[in-house]
Amino acid sequence: MSFKRKLPDPRDEWCKVPGRYLKNLPQTSVIICFHNEAWSTLLRTIHSVMDRSPGHLVKEIILVDDYSDMPHLDEYMEKYHKVKIIRTVKREGLIRARLIGAGHAAGPVLTFLDSHCECAQGWLEPLLDRIGRDRSSVVCPVIDVLDDTTFEYRFQNASMMFVGGFNWNVQFIWYPIPEREIKRRNNSAEPIRTPTMAGGLFSIDKAFFERLGTYDSGFGIWGAENLELSFKTWMCGGTLEIVPCSHVGHIFRKHSPHFPYKGMTAQDIMKRNSVRLAEVWMDEYNYYVYERMGFDLGDFGDVTSRKELRRNLHCKSFKWYLDNIYPELFSPGDAVVSGGIGNDWSGLCIDSPCCKPSSFNKPVGLYPCHRLGGNQLWMISKQGEIRRDEACLDYAGGKIILYLCHGTKGNQYFEFDYKNKRIKIGLMNKCVAMSRDKKILIAKKCSADDETQNWDLV
Ligand code: UDP
Ligand code: MN
Repeated sequence: MSFKRKLPDPRDEWCKVPGRYLKNLPQTSVIICFHNEAWSTLLRTIHSVMDRSPGHLVKEIILVDDYSDMPHLDEYMEKYHKVKIIRTVKREGLIRARLIGAGHAAGPVLTFLDSHCECAQGWLEPLLDRIGRDRSSVVCPVIDVLDDTTFEYRFQNASMMFVGGFNWNVQFIWYPIPEREIKRRNNSAEPIRTPTMAGGLFSIDKAFFERLGTYDSGFGIWGAENLELSFKTWMCGGTLEIVPCSHVGHIFRKHSPHFPYKGMTAQDIMKRNSVRLAEVWMDEYNYYVYERMGFDLGDFGDVTSRKELRRNLHCKSFKWYLDNIYPELFSPGDAVVSGGIGNDWSGLCIDSPCCKPSSFNKPVGLYPCHRLGGNQLWMISKQGEIRRDEACLDYAGGKIILYLCHGTKGNQYFEFDYKNKRIKIGLMNKCVAMSRDKKILIAKKCSADDETQNWDLV
């Protein structure tokens, strides 16, 4: 496939109305970090920026080669004067590589892209427009999927969009645009406020980024930096938005090609970054994060200067952030009860992994009760959900599956009758039971003498 290719224009008509954007948009430096990226995908990223951005808005394209052991691109890039190549002298990791790129940037706005992207028509103007109007606005394009085997570009329809959240494992998640946000806007193509950003693709005013203390440079390679920037953007006076008029494709790979690194796994680094994040930004809510780690925080280094940064910026509390920006997040403290749910007749407990995309839409399983939490930890919410993080038990015909919580009761509403040991499903005369082979949860007509319907909190 060519380094340049045509793509359909994904924008809503609303985006193309004359006068929609400021006449004088700020210029941006585009920063692309890469570690052993294939030439073809990297060059397609760069050409898509050059070909689909108004020239006067792109100050420069800064490539930060994070110690790749591959042939260099310099010769190919010689004829493109806007392209600057910086090479790190040791492997820095994505976070520090971005900071190095930002340090070399001359434009007033920084636009970060991954090294395997394709910018669609008109992607840049709507991003810069938001920042031109408000310097503390941090904006992300809609991230479309570039198929990792066929490179097919799959546009996301603006009206069925998601926003960013997170769970207490400090994992970024997508969830449907909340009702309150749909109501706040007049048109589905207008910018959408989002509690968090996915991380790879966004624009930010350079001075605002610096005022926020950029990224915590104590973070390793990759991970949780997107949440750090999201939390402090909101808590320290900014706004974070997804701009539906701006589309950029991204190749989602099944496996990260960057690990292990110096004997550390992605999980080790993620944990260290998560603890630094929780220590500095999450106030008393960090308890929930540490609980998931069994209170074994490991060595997370020194965070004194990051705490000082937050104090000096007079940022709002994490509670304010949760109450006002992310009220959809379910906190373990909101649970009516939590623990294991076991069947005394079989000794089995309701057991399911969560919350990767692969854990959803599958029947919920059973496993001998171990009383260690983990995949057997369930919380019953005030709304009658049986959930862990963003995953809910969901009545799907004969089976009970795990599904993204939707907060509207319906087939995620259960009534726990402790006295009779029954879990009634919704408002039907059906109860949670186990399949004949005792492997999965099913729904059955409630019956007083069916032991497979006995449930206790354990
Ligand atoms: N990257 C880097 N150094 C690293 C790890 C990653 O420069 O040590 C770059 C990588 O080439 C990519 C970006 O950082 O352009 C984000 O990484 P990746 O795409 O693997 O993250 P994902 O999109 O899977 O979250
Ligand atoms: Mn990527």
